[in-house]
Amino acid sequence: MRAAVLTEPGTIEIRLIDRPLPADKVAVTTKAAGICGTDIHAFGGHNPFLTFPRVMGHEIAGTVAAVGSEVTGIRVGERVVGNPYAECATCRTCRRGHPNLCPDLTVTGVHSDGGFAEQAYVSPRQLYSLPLSVDLDTAALVEPLSIGAEAVTNGNVQADDRVVIIGAGPIGLACLAFAVERGATALVVDRIPGRLERARELGAAAVVNTLADDPDDRVKAFTAGVGADVVIEAVGAKETIEAGLRWFGPAGRYVLLGLYDGTVELPTFTAMRLGLRFTASRLNRGRFPECIEYLRTHPHVTSLVTHQIALEDLQDTLTLLTRRELEACKVMVQLH
Ligand SMILES: [Zn+2]
Ligand SMILES: [Zn+2]
Repeated sequence: MRAAVLTEPGTIEIRLIDRPLPADKVAVTTKAAGICGTDIHAFGGHNPFLTFPRVMGHEIAGTVAAVGSEVTGIRVGERVVGNPYAECATCRTCRRGHPNLCPDLTVTGVHSDGGFAEQAYVSPRQLYSLPLSVDLDTAALVEPLSIGAEAVTNGNVQADDRVVIIGAGPIGLACLAFAVERGATALVVDRIPGRLERARELGAAAVVNTLADDPDDRVKAFTAGVGADVVIEAVGAKETIEAGLRWFGPAGRYVLLGLYDGTVELPTFTAMRLGLRFTASRLNRGRFPECIEYLRTHPHVTSLVTHQIALEDLQDTLTLLTRRELEACKVMVQLH
């Protein structure tokens, strides 16, 4: 089968590879696989868990082509989406309901080969069956949606909450989708007009372009001067994390979701005075079923897919995304 192999940082080769299907795995014929921030980081050589050569791609939707000899309960031809995260399921953290924080967690497309190939070999417990009405070309959106569903749950977003979402990339917009679903009113902050337009389409009550407008003023107006009930930071930069820490109100919940490897200033007196609840949201805990159902009942969310590319275009596309020269939301690598 054809596969896009990351041989070293910045270099992808399209290779023909032939591997036997392990007895405990399922071969999934990839229909479409999403490009995620993780892939862009790994392409740049910034993922310490990824070893070379590696087929990236952890957002996978397709059809079961074959099942290993030890696998039961999955049929050839079944339409599936893959949850990339495999926890050990036995450690104390897993047993206490935090599989997303398992110290031995492995990720498809990082620790093992993923979806940027004609077939991916996946553990059956990572596969979820898709209803017929969910289009395989966009079904891989379930994974980024699950990140948003988890963050909104961790922020305990309620109907009538005023929620500020920082960042209108796929993850920020996934948070928006679930915040709106819960009946909250959301303000979305970004600096790219196309992204803010998408936020509007997905139900943001207001948007702020930080290059054109003062977000502090806009958040104040949006929250009638009291501050946000929930702030979700989906960028992962010192500046945006600290901006969000100026925007919460009484009993505010702050959800750190964007990845940032550094330190920030926490306004401790304000945090104390307002009873801030600070949480970091990582991956997801069993959210695939609800996200599949969300995708089935909210087909308009497939507009998050802005580009479809061929496997051969992966190297160029990742290069453009790295340089921020492609204004895209979700890019799908279309395999079949
Ligand atoms: Zn992803
Ligand atoms: Zn574990």
